[in-house]
Amino acid sequence: MQLLRSLLLLIVPGVLFAVALYLQLKVVIPATWHPLLTMFPYLAVVAGLFLGWRFNRTRVLWAIALLILVERALVLTTPYGREYVLQLAPLLVPLNLALYSWWSERGLFTLHGFLRLVIFLLQLGGVVWLYFARAGETMAWLSRPLFASGLIDKTPFSQITWLFISLSLIALIIRFCRKPEALEGGFCWITIAAVAGFWWPQQFAFWGGVGAFILMIALIESSLKMAFNDELTGLPARRAMNESLLKVGRRYTVAMVDVDHFKKVNDTHGHDVGDQVLRMVATCLRRVTGGGRAYRYGGEEFVVVFPSKGLERTLPHLEDLRETIGRAGFVIRGRKRPKQKPEKSSSKNTEKSKLHVTVSIGVASRDDNNTTPEQLIKAADKALYKAKKGGRNQVCSA
Ligand code: GH3
Ligand code: MG
Ligand code: MG
Repeated sequence: MQLLRSLLLLIVPGVLFAVALYLQLKVVIPATWHPLLTMFPYLAVVAGLFLGWRFNRTRVLWAIALLILVERALVLTTPYGREYVLQLAPLLVPLNLALYSWWSERGLFTLHGFLRLVIFLLQLGGVVWLYFARAGETMAWLSRPLFASGLIDKTPFSQITWLFISLSLIALIIRFCRKPEALEGGFCWITIAAVAGFWWPQQFAFWGGVGAFILMIALIESSLKMAFNDELTGLPARRAMNESLLKVGRRYTVAMVDVDHFKKVNDTHGHDVGDQVLRMVATCLRRVTGGGRAYRYGGEEFVVVFPSKGLERTLPHLEDLRETIGRAGFVIRGRKRPKQKPEKSSSKNTEKSKLHVTVSIGVASRDDNNTTPEQLIKAADKALYKAKKGGRNQVCSA
């Protein structure tokens, strides 16, 4: 499921790219489309820049600015200069886009933002200096073959350029595998779109627009994920729960799950261990049976929603969940030793640092008294209080 979700992050921009490729290869485009295609790059670039600025994603700004710079250079320069740009840019642009993907977001007016600017200016300075000092030699050097290859020589790029493009794409794919997120997928595809732009330099503006559009969609996707998903546990967050409760139908059950004595875990073993415990609990919650869907409600509280299920039918699944969490335990990792001396040197701390985590669960179903989602949550919370009072590590219903 996770793999499929990650692959979708590559497939969606891939489809956008495929549509653009179809438009590029289709020799005759109906005249009615022409104004749209002319406007498209401008709209995509402006929208991409605007969103990058609003969401404070400086690497998106940089990536789009880089494409604008190349497009302007191709239009404004002399034919010789254009040839020079077309030799150097296919090598440097993918490399920089790969760098932006690897170099996490750190803001514009920070040391990292400044370093990004310095790296960019150094390259720009180098390219301009080489143009005036050694343009011919540079171009000859870049286009010399490294080995005999009929196939590569038929393409618009030299072997050295292909080497740089391939290395950049490998770096981008490794980055995506390590961090399968929408923006990283977007960076893979904006790079491919830029390469397509260098392949068909007459249409560089169009391909720049395609790249900006892909990155803009990825940015929206990643912002949506941020709004609806909890970063620590990866579970959908409260906002997602509220949305899904609006369309869950008339019959459903809500369970409120709360980690027992969690404050003590934090106090005894530190906040990092506390976070790891929450992740462990979330992993168990994600696998809850009976068609339940888990959300992080806040802090160490979670909610499981069972659509179209009455209270009685959810109880066995919740009992299973409670037992699974209780059995899972938690082995405290080597480096994260207790920060404070434990209150008691009980078996909890000496038993190979295994921590036993339990949860209390309060359940409520939709009935005449509780009709709105808010009322149901309140009722589940009341039942949870009962479970806590009753000695914890148990399931209580409203
Ligand atoms: P009870 O059994 O009655 O539920 O007791 P408790 O200690 O679990 O409950 P309490 O509400 O007193 O404490 C909850 C603690 O959870 C307090 C807060 O610091 C901690 N907490 C909330 N969110 C996070 C988080 O994201 N990470 C960590 N490590 N701790 C968190
Ligand atoms: Mg609590
Ligand atoms: Mg608690």
